[in-house]
Amino acid sequence: MKRRDFLQVAGAMSLAGCATTSAPSRARVVVIGGGFGGATAAKHIRLWDSSLDVVLIERDAQFVSCPISNLVLAGYSSMQEITRDRSGLARHGVQMVHDQAVAIDVAKKSVRLAGGGEIGYERLIVSPGIDFTFGDVQGYEAAMQSGRVLHAWKAGPQTVALRRQLEAMPDGGVYILSVPLAPYRCPPGPYERASMVAAYFKQAKPRSKVLVLDANPDVTSKAGLFKRAWSDLYPGILEYRGNARAVGVDEKTMSVKLEVEEVKGDVLNVVPPHRAGDIAQKAGLITSNNRWCDVDWRTMESKAVKGVHVLGDATLSAAAMPKSGSMANNHAKIAAAAIVDLLNGREPAPLQIVNTCYSFVSQKEAIRVSSVHRWDAAKGTLLAVPGSGGVSAARSEAEGNYAWNWARTIWADSLA
Ligand SMILES: Cc1cc2nc3c(=O)[nH]c(=O)nc-3n(C[C@H](O)[C@H](O)[C@H](O)COP(=O)(O)OP(=O)(O)OC[C@H]3O[C@@H](n4cnc5c(N)ncnc54)[C@H](O)[C@@H]3O)c2cc1C
Repeated sequence: MKRRDFLQVAGAMSLAGCATTSAPSRARVVVIGGGFGGATAAKHIRLWDSSLDVVLIERDAQFVSCPISNLVLAGYSSMQEITRDRSGLARHGVQMVHDQAVAIDVAKKSVRLAGGGEIGYERLIVSPGIDFTFGDVQGYEAAMQSGRVLHAWKAGPQTVALRRQLEAMPDGGVYILSVPLAPYRCPPGPYERASMVAAYFKQAKPRSKVLVLDANPDVTSKAGLFKRAWSDLYPGILEYRGNARAVGVDEKTMSVKLEVEEVKGDVLNVVPPHRAGDIAQKAGLITSNNRWCDVDWRTMESKAVKGVHVLGDATLSAAAMPKSGSMANNHAKIAAAAIVDLLNGREPAPLQIVNTCYSFVSQKEAIRVSSVHRWDAAKGTLLAVPGSGGVSAARSEAEGNYAWNWARTIWADSLA
């Protein structure tokens, strides 16, 4: 065992010891999940009150960003570029535990780790992202195990595998991207992906096709801008079909089953419907449709379990609020500010938050959507501020530069 690994294990064990043998000497906030939501929250709690203990539990050794991962599929970016370590968080005094949280005991206020031991908390933040409801697409699990059908909707090994499949596909082949019914992670993400794969085919395999089978009736985000880009840039390459929900998939015949027909392809990229990450389900945090966690938008505290705050994609989104890295980062700041207030005996004040989502439509050009969300006391939720947001006037290289700057800035804001 390397010295650094030993220190991590020793750290987790001594934290676990604290939880089981004695109360922490100062208030401790435990965060599960070091993605856009959890990492940002852990860092900002320490920035805003360095007297608090903050422990971040994360199972993956490195952070791999979904934003920009569609460019990796096209060969316009690399896994190295979208992979970051979390060492910056330690510089802010965040204690890192590299492990998987397997259970939350809300009565004891402690989190149990796969590697053994428990960590006690005063306040808990859960930001586990999504897991998939594979059972909604018949045959999915077997198809995925065969390695022939991928979602690549969590950036990492599946991103690499999908890029390899696209490279191996002969010119003249068909790439199928199946989009689940909203709400899903990153509303414009599938259409950006379709654009990126079409851009790659146009350059490298011009006889090939991108077929988007969307369970939704129409493109769910920036529809006018995407459709304009597709007809200008990818005529004859990219075909879009709405109301085309995948009910099954078969890796032997390489086909996606829709309600009324079966469509064959050479690369099947089927994104199944999602729900809040497993740990949220195990902890009883899911309140809506067996999928999402309802929260108080002034504090991000769960409506089901007091003392536990839920962030990011796992939440039941407020009206007109996308599941995005941008939103998760903003949720984290609401939670961090509220927890610092609560642990210092102050009443938290509602915050106004902003979403910005860029999508590439070619190697250099991007489009944008943004919105502002403000607390409405009468309705008891966050509402989009009328007239505050909007979309780009047209795709442009300037938006492409802003998109790269946005990505580098949010990676730094969350992790460095
Ligand atoms: C292709 C694609 C493109 C996208 N592009 C954009 C974009 O351009 N802009 C944008 O704003 N958003 C984009 N998104 C959406 C964005 O990635 C998500 O909304 C964001 O990652 C949500 O943050 P989160 O903290 O909720 O979850 P995540 O970032 O997924 O973080 C969850 C973390 O929790 C960890 N974890 C889960 N369970 C446990 C456990 N039990 N114990 C320990 N660790 C655990 C996971 O390992 C993970 O690191 C895109 C998504 C996709 C798929």
